[in-house]
Amino acid sequence: MLLERKIGVKYQKPKGTADILPQEAQLWDEVEAKSREVFRRYRYGEIRVPLFESYDLYARSSGDTSDIVTKEMYDFNDKGGRHMALRPEGTAGVVRAYVENKLYGPEFPKPYRVYYMGPMFRYERPQSGRQREFHQIGVEAFGSDSPLLDAETIQLGVDLLHSVGVHDLRLAINTLGDPETRQAYHQALVDYFTPHKAELSEDSQIRLAKNPLRILDSKDPQDKPLVADAPSILDYLTPAAQAHFSVVKESLDKLGIAYVVDPTMVRGLDYYNHTIFEIMTTSPAFGNKELTVLAGGRYDGLVEQVGGPALPGVGFGLGTERLMLLVQHNRPAEEAAPLNVYIASLSEPAGAEALVLAHAIREAGYTVDMDFLNRKAKSQFKTANRENAQLVITLGEDELAHSAASIKQMATGQQIQVPFAEVTTEFHKIYQQLVEEGK
Ligand code: ATP
Ligand code: MG
Repeated sequence: MLLERKIGVKYQKPKGTADILPQEAQLWDEVEAKSREVFRRYRYGEIRVPLFESYDLYARSSGDTSDIVTKEMYDFNDKGGRHMALRPEGTAGVVRAYVENKLYGPEFPKPYRVYYMGPMFRYERPQSGRQREFHQIGVEAFGSDSPLLDAETIQLGVDLLHSVGVHDLRLAINTLGDPETRQAYHQALVDYFTPHKAELSEDSQIRLAKNPLRILDSKDPQDKPLVADAPSILDYLTPAAQAHFSVVKESLDKLGIAYVVDPTMVRGLDYYNHTIFEIMTTSPAFGNKELTVLAGGRYDGLVEQVGGPALPGVGFGLGTERLMLLVQHNRPAEEAAPLNVYIASLSEPAGAEALVLAHAIREAGYTVDMDFLNRKAKSQFKTANRENAQLVITLGEDELAHSAASIKQMATGQQIQVPFAEVTTEFHKIYQQLVEEGK
C-alpha cells in the first residue's frame, strides 16, 4: 500500500524535551565556557563518552532498585538484539571509559580528573526543572581516597556556581560510611521499618526487602513521618568512616564553606559511599522552591564493580537546565552582538560581487551579512539597521564599474569609496579608530 503523503503535518517535540534557540544557546555557551575555565584551573580534562551504553552498565552501577533503573530508563533493543539504554547520568559511562582505556595506568596522573557536559535521558514526569532530556555538567576524580579530595570537589562545585553568578547556596553533606557501616545501618533500618511495614508506601515496602536505604530517599508523602524518625547513619559509622568524614568537615571549615550535615540525605544512585553532598538554592526562578542544582559524592566501589581495579572515585553532576534558569533570572538576555558590516547590493551582478566581498571580509575576522531575498535598496538598508550594522557597503552600478565599494559608517554618516582590494585594510583602520575613540 502506498503511504499517503500528507503535506503540512505539524510535528511537536517529544514530551519532556526542549529546543534551545540561538539566543538562549549563546548563554549556554557562556556558562559552559566559564565552567571549562574553572575546570582548567583544577586540572580537569574533558572526556566525551557515548550517549548510550549497554543497559547492564547502568543497571549494575546505579543499582537495580534505584528510581533511575526501575522507572526512568530509556532502554531499547537495537537491531542486533542488544539491550541498550540512553545514558541517565554521566558517571557510569565515564567509569566504563576509565576502566576500558586503562586510565589508571602509571603513565596517567593520579587523581585522574575528567569533566563532561551533555544530554542525559530519564523517563520522568516533566515539570519545572525536570525534563526527559536534560543536560548535566559533571566531574569525576579517580584514584585517591583522600577526604581532602572530597573537600576539593565540593569547593570546585561552589567555584563553578559562583563563576556563573549563582550565590545564595546551601550545601548539605552526609556520609554513607564504608561497607561495614552500611551493613550495620542496613540492619538498623530493617529493624526499624519492619514493624511499620504496612504504613509504608507500596514502593517502599519493596525497598524494605531489597534496599532499605532507598526508603530514606522516597518522595512519597506517606513515607515522610516514618523516615523522619528513622535511625541516623551517623550513629553507625565505623571509626575509619568517622575519621574520613571529620576531615571532610574540617577541610570545609578551613575553606570557609558553610554546610549543614543532613543525616537523612541519601543519593538516588546506589554507588555512593562516604561523603555525599548536594548544593541547593532557592530562587524566584524556581518559584521560590528550594531545588538541588548540584549533587555528588564518593563512590569507592564503583570502578571495581564495572570490572576495573579497586580504585576510589569522587564526583558530582550539575543540572544545566536548572543552572540556566538561575543564570537567566540573574541576568536578562543580552542584546545580540552588533553586525560589523551589511552589504547592500543594488543589482544581480552586484549580488554576486557582494558574495565574494563578504567572504574576504569574514576571512579578515568581521561579521558580515547581505541580501538574499532580492529586496529593494530601501528595504536592504532597513535590514541593515535592524541588524544593528556598524558599516554598510553599497554596491551599485557605479561601484561595480570602478571595482570599488562605498562604505558608510552608520554612527556618523561618513561615507568613502574604497577599491575592492583595499576594503579589509580600510576596515582594520576604521575599527582601530573606533577602538581608540572608545566606541
Ligand atoms: P531528584 O531527587 O531531584 O530526582 P536526582 O537524585 O535524580 O534528583 P541526580 O541524579 O543526582 O538527581 O542528578 C544531579 C542533578 O541533575 C540534579 O540535582 C538536578 O539538578 C539534575 N537533574 C536530575 N534529573 C533531572 C531532570 N529530569 N531534569 C532536569 N534536571 C535534572
Ligand atoms: Mg531523580
